[in-house]
Amino acid sequence: MKNSPVTPVIAYIGLGSNLAEPVAQITSARTAIAAIAGLQELAFSSLYHSLPMGPQDQPDYVNAVMGVATELLPMDFLRCLQSIENDQGRVRIGERWGARTLDLDVLIYGDQIIDLPDLVVPHRGVDERSFVLYPLFEIAPQLVVPGKGAIADLIAKCPLSGLRRMN
Ligand code: ADP
Ligand code: MG
Repeated sequence: MKNSPVTPVIAYIGLGSNLAEPVAQITSARTAIAAIAGLQELAFSSLYHSLPMGPQDQPDYVNAVMGVATELLPMDFLRCLQSIENDQGRVRIGERWGARTLDLDVLIYGDQIIDLPDLVVPHRGVDERSFVLYPLFEIAPQLVVPGKGAIADLIAKCPLSGLRRMN
């Protein structure tokens, strides 16, 4: 029986860190993601400095967005990202949106809309969080976010809220 060829899907990953040298965390996560079998890096945004969401008694964040082509199915893709989070010593301090060494989110997976208990895509943050939208817009200005509309329209409604580009 012939194997059917797998068409890669273009996906976007949100990276964030606010502990243990955030810039180094993001850089090593990029390398680890690019090394996943069946995945190729297409684009990587500038690094951005952002203010914490939720609890304010935590350090500021470094964020970036990575574009990839991947042959992994959505849940396999999420599991790979979670194992990179774990490898980089992610400690969950308990509270939602609390400090973390590394947060990797599946922002977009092709044109798919996914609503599973463990995976919601597009990610809830895509249309409202400046630290997701601005880096995403930098690498994919023509993107249409499935179910949410053109990124240019989303960004027009999203204040910077303290976000600044670092490099
Ligand atoms: P947040 O990123 O909102 O601060 P966490 O990273 O702690 O929160 O949330 C992790 C949980 O979110 C995981 O259990 C995972 O299954 C779930 N989840 C749902 N959708 C996604 C997604 N698109 N990307 C990453 N995790 C997701
Ligand atoms: Mg997350």
